Formats: sequence, C-alpha cells, structure tokens
Amino acid sequence: MSQLRIAGLRAGIPGREILNGIDLEVASGEVHAVMGPNGSGKSTLSHVLMGRPGYQVHAGTVTIDGADLLTLPTWQRAQAGLFLAMQYPIEVPGVSLEEALGEAMAAAGRDRAEVGALVAAEAARIGFDHRFLSRPLNVDLSGGERKRNETLQLGVLRPRFAVLDEVDSGLDYDALRAVARRVEAATDEVGLGVLAITHYSRLLQVLRPDVVHVLAHGRIVATGGPELAEELDRTGYRAYGGAEDEGPAA
Ligand code: ADP
Ligand code: MG
Repeated sequence: MSQLRIAGLRAGIPGREILNGIDLEVASGEVHAVMGPNGSGKSTLSHVLMGRPGYQVHAGTVTIDGADLLTLPTWQRAQAGLFLAMQYPIEVPGVSLEEALGEAMAAAGRDRAEVGALVAAEAARIGFDHRFLSRPLNVDLSGGERKRNETLQLGVLRPRFAVLDEVDSGLDYDALRAVARRVEAATDEVGLGVLAITHYSRLLQVLRPDVVHVLAHGRIVATGGPELAEELDRTGYRAYGGAEDEGPAA
C-alpha cells in the first residue's frame, strides 16, 4: 500500500503562479479524477509532478510514501513509481517503443528480454495494432493512437501511480473503453493509484473514480464522489468560474 501525497503545492512558470496551493492524496488502488475548465492548471499539475523543465515550485511537497519527489530529476521520479501519460505525447524519432521500454525496465532492475512479450500482451489487451509497435515512438501516430501507446507503456512499466492527462481525448468510443478498462484493471491487479485528468465524464463511466476534484484557477474548489462528475456533465464549469463554452455540457 502506497500513498502519493501533494501538499500545499504552489508552482508556475517564471513570473506567473499557475497552481495556487494544491492538496491531494491518492492511495494505491484509488482513482481520483481531476476535472476543470481549460486553462485551470490541470496539465501544469501533471508537468510539475513529473518535473518538466520550465516550471518552478514555490512551495509545498510531493511525496510517495514520505519520500520527496520534487528534488529528483524526472527519470528518478519514474523509478520512484510515478508515471505520466501526457496530454500531447511527443514524437521521438530514432527510438522504438521496445527500445524505450527495454531501457526503462533494465533501469528498474527488470529483465529487458521480457519486453517483447509484454508489449505484445498489452497491445492485444487494448487493441493496439502491432504495425505501430516497430515505429519510432509516436512518429506519425494519430492522437488516439498515441493515447493507446501511452496506455500500453503504463501496462508494461507497472508504476505505482499514474497521472493521465486527458488520456481520453482523440479516442473513439471503443478505444476509450479499452483504455479505461485497462487502467481500471491495473488498479485491481497491481494496486495502481490513478490521477485521471479529464473534461468528460464518459471516461469515468468505465474508469470509476473514488473521488472527483474540480480544479479552477489553480485551486481545488470542490471534491466529491462520482456524482460530482455527473453533475458537471449537466451543468458545465460555470459554477466554478469556467466559461460557458468550456464545460463538458458544451
Ligand atoms: P489546463 O491543462 O487545465 O487546460 P494548463 O495547465 O495547460 O491548463 O495551463 C494553465 C495556464 O497556464 C494557462 O493559462 C496556460 O496558458 C498557462 N501555461 C501553462 N504552461 C505554460 C508554459 N509553459 N508557458 C506559458 N504559459 C503556460
Ligand atoms: Mg491540459
């Protein structure tokens, strides 16, 4: 049983604070949804957690089982058990998926010879076409294919906690269900803890959240159960200071 703990986190870019004090605790096996209007700081939270260059932390702590993450470089945060499925996964020409995953497994003390079989098994689970597996990482993949690629990596790497930044965007209904089911299964099979950033409750109909948070203007302004996601689906984010056209109801 592990605990990802974010406490009093204030962060931003030079000259601008974007996150104005975030408190959030996710335990193994739990799914927490983070919803909120465009520009509220959702992706910034994911970047700051993973240590993307260009962001500054002004205050607060992020720990897994008490061990500080914020002083670590990104690769050591990954080794500590944190995974990020990016909103916009980047292309990495010249590096294949299996090479990248094999390196990550070896760095974690696992047998890289297993990577081929693991990738094939994960691809089958989420209906990811094997033609994509030999391509350079994300090169010439559609938005939806990249999201499945991120989910496949999550399945192979078996992190303790995963931040999913709009993993549902660009996915058609069948792909969305496959991805959500795979993540949900990981919460049961290996006790994955999830921070699922999403605009829409349709992801959460399969990946059932234990807790739903609303992030607005860099703050968590509401926390509730799954019914909060359903309410947002009807009302949008107007009540939380989001523009009318930014809500899921639009
Ligand atoms: P969300 O993911 O909730 O839509 P973001 O975290 O991407 O929001 O962005 C929050 C705000 O911070 C936006 O106004 C965005 O333009 C700004 N922002 C985020 N990252 C950067 C950056 N690297 N440089 C400049 N502005 C940024
Ligand atoms: Mg975003």
